[in-house]
Amino acid sequence: MRLQNFLNEKTFNINADVDYVYKLGFKKVLDVYKKKSLIEFVEFIYKNYPTSTGDRTFYTINSGMLKSRQCKKADEENPIMIYCGLYPYSSYIPEEKVIRIALHKGAFGLFSYNADWDQVKRDVPNKAQFERLEHEFTPTNVKGAIYHELSHWLNDTLHNKHITNKLNKSVEMDDRKFLLGKHTNVNFTDFEVDAQIHAIKQIKRDNKKKYDKFTWKDLFTRKPALQGVWQELVKVLEDKRMKFFQKYSKNRATQGIWDKIEKKELKVQKDFFKDFTKRLNREGLLVKGLTKFPTAKELL
Ligand SMILES: [Zn+2]
Repeated sequence: MRLQNFLNEKTFNINADVDYVYKLGFKKVLDVYKKKSLIEFVEFIYKNYPTSTGDRTFYTINSGMLKSRQCKKADEENPIMIYCGLYPYSSYIPEEKVIRIALHKGAFGLFSYNADWDQVKRDVPNKAQFERLEHEFTPTNVKGAIYHELSHWLNDTLHNKHITNKLNKSVEMDDRKFLLGKHTNVNFTDFEVDAQIHAIKQIKRDNKKKYDKFTWKDLFTRKPALQGVWQELVKVLEDKRMKFFQKYSKNRATQGIWDKIEKKELKVQKDFFKDFTKRLNREGLLVKGLTKFPTAKELL
């Protein structure tokens, strides 16, 4: 099937498998996080999941244990191992046949360093940032990550290994453009957007009554990594502006050149927004509060 065709298809419905991976891999740990004090949670992790590298695996699942029709089919063609634990980030690594679902290791570092919510608050004075940090270890965020990574594996396996092929070609040719296509950052590619949409499906699933009123801030709070993607989209332009005016002193002529570059870059943002909201719309996930580009405040 051609890439374009599958992107027009609907998302995977694997709620039961997402819940299953969550239950085996994370429920015990996140119940402690929810019910106990921060210091008790940190001690629980230290005691039960010792490590020499800082990564801590709670549970390992092989894809043969998954139950949905689509996951069973993918397991037949391309079985993988799913590691659940504390890692720097979640990932699907085709060449290793591995998925890692991460509780954010950096956030855990901050928790273990402070071991008290009041102190964490002092470390993270920005209210929105603190709120996102609190949500790193929620079932919604973790299930969103499971949905995201499983959908990568399903898409790749059931659609001609298009992610694996792009990765291999990029490595072989030592050129990222095979992976990125026209995009400047992997997070802006069609296959990443597709996986992000799966994570948002999970957010809606967990917020049935509230979702109609959702804003970008609500999404970013419940899935902090998503905010990072949009922040990156805006940051690209800021970085370019800074570099440009480091190189050329500001005068009317250079300002004119920059304005043209900026116009082009803003179009990148606009196009991304259009694609993203189109996909949201197709899945019944586009509500009024998401029809405008996130504000600067929401991206802080
Ligand atoms: Zn991804």
